[in-house]
Amino acid sequence: MTPYSDSLRGYGHPIFARDEFICQYCGLDGRESFDNWLSLTVDHLLPKGHPLRDDPDFIVTACKFCNTADNQYFARAQERGLAFDGLSRSELVDQRRPYVETTRRSYRDFWEKNVRRALS
Ligand SMILES: [Zn+2]
Repeated sequence: MTPYSDSLRGYGHPIFARDEFICQYCGLDGRESFDNWLSLTVDHLLPKGHPLRDDPDFIVTACKFCNTADNQYFARAQERGLAFDGLSRSELVDQRRPYVETTRRSYRDFWEKNVRRALS
């Protein structure tokens, strides 16, 4: 086994390798740059308490932003009518992606108005 106890070099590495080091929500590619790789995290697709939550089959690669973009995802699952049982990893990612993308769009609007360097 790996001597590393951190996510990037240790327990996350086989998950990132399986996902080709690509954020499953926005497509950020950890092989493209060192900084991209540094922003990779493991994203649990099942809620706390679910028996399969820590099964690598139900954990995917996500960049730091996408991982935390919708931090109400599990808390609001019931009101949103989301279910988790019986779905495959890719179905669970597809279910979560629209919520991540909504948050990304809202941040992008802010960035374009308030952060982006003006063209000269
Ligand atoms: Zn991402």
